[in-house]
Amino acid sequence: MHADVFDPVSMATVTTAAEFARSSIAAMTPALPLSVQLLLSLLLTKSYASTLTQCPNKPPGRLGEDRLRTCPLPGDLGIIPEHEPTAVSWSFAPRCMAAPAKPDEVPRVDCLFTAADFRNGHGISVVTSTTAASNLVGLGVFPDSPDPAAAARRRAAGGRAYEVVDVPGKGKGVVARRKIRKDEIFIVDYPAVLIGIDFLADAKPHHRRRVIKQAINQLPERTRDRVYGLSRGDGTYEVDSILGANSNSVTLADGELHVGVFPEVARINHSCRPNAYYRFSQRRLAIEVVAYVPIEAGDEILMSYVPLGLKHDERRKYLRDNWGFECRCSLCHAPESEISESQGRRRQMNEMKQTLQDARRDGYYKEAITIAGDLLQFTEWEGMPLLTPEYHDTLADLYLLKGDMANATRYARMALNGWVQFGSVDDDQLENSRRLLQGLANTQS
Ligand SMILES: [Zn+2]
Repeated sequence: MHADVFDPVSMATVTTAAEFARSSIAAMTPALPLSVQLLLSLLLTKSYASTLTQCPNKPPGRLGEDRLRTCPLPGDLGIIPEHEPTAVSWSFAPRCMAAPAKPDEVPRVDCLFTAADFRNGHGISVVTSTTAASNLVGLGVFPDSPDPAAAARRRAAGGRAYEVVDVPGKGKGVVARRKIRKDEIFIVDYPAVLIGIDFLADAKPHHRRRVIKQAINQLPERTRDRVYGLSRGDGTYEVDSILGANSNSVTLADGELHVGVFPEVARINHSCRPNAYYRFSQRRLAIEVVAYVPIEAGDEILMSYVPLGLKHDERRKYLRDNWGFECRCSLCHAPESEISESQGRRRQMNEMKQTLQDARRDGYYKEAITIAGDLLQFTEWEGMPLLTPEYHDTLADLYLLKGDMANATRYARMALNGWVQFGSVDDDQLENSRRLLQGLANTQS
């Protein structure tokens, strides 16, 4: 499903009072490239002993009931019933490892699955638990279904929007080949490898590297070459240094955190004042890169590697500690006065958020509404439109508490539109806003 075919009316859901109350405040969790530090901490975690087991010599095939009888997978497959799983032909026999478990537990089994025909021959290797893999199969993400509208959209927009080039001082980077409209989705990228965080944490280092290397090697040649062609981070081991410098963390539909290497997105460099952001579609396993602002031909495409809203010194420390580079972006190198102005605003925003929470807790809804309105204004000044729906949600919640249903509905609708625009259509926030709106409609009918 895609943002531009989303129909909020047909998807409204009935809600219970408890859900209604829970859903009224949503937290913004923008997707971020995974920091080197986090990844290394996973890679260096003391590992348990794990048993490497190859599935018995069976031909590659779909993951399903019959496969369960031929390969030692745990009982809970967790297939989501409302989706008709489509058969997936794995290109190689899955290679499986049992994670350590207590004597009375069913161990988690992680397997390497490769589907070479994924997305028109792009191919994908997934190293994850059989449960997570079953959920992916259940969601129908594997069959080769390229976005039918993509080619038409690209033609209408004036052709391919970007290219990967050498950028002085940064290695490779991505630049616009033509003008890109604000809000245009101009890169759609799929993971070449997708690896469960639990596997990264639990597998012994040599097993982990061997399995990931095999995951890359089983990809179609073109995709494999692109992965090996990516820039390298620190590290003695090839796969660790590729992963360390090129991973994005994504949360799958079942809530499981995974690390993905998206070969195109991995080329995009950082700026604290980005001109693009990305969202992850759990149903298509796609990252869509969207323009924050109009981008001119020749401009470099830049995304923020740091959480939005950090102050100047915090951002620089975060980048130094987590990514190992000194930021030279336009915001970090702006005139002193501009930096301190921006820094002051961000400091003030943090204080305002606290005051808002206190006011809400103590029942000063009118004051809280004023503060939320100011915060909205600040997000605009700071060029952080991703935060807007969060404050629309907050305003809807506050008006609801105040008993002003008309304004609550107005802001809930704005929040929903914002989540549709900025978040993935599978997002929790979107679901929460939808429930809130439906709840509001019920209370007024
Ligand atoms: Zn910067």
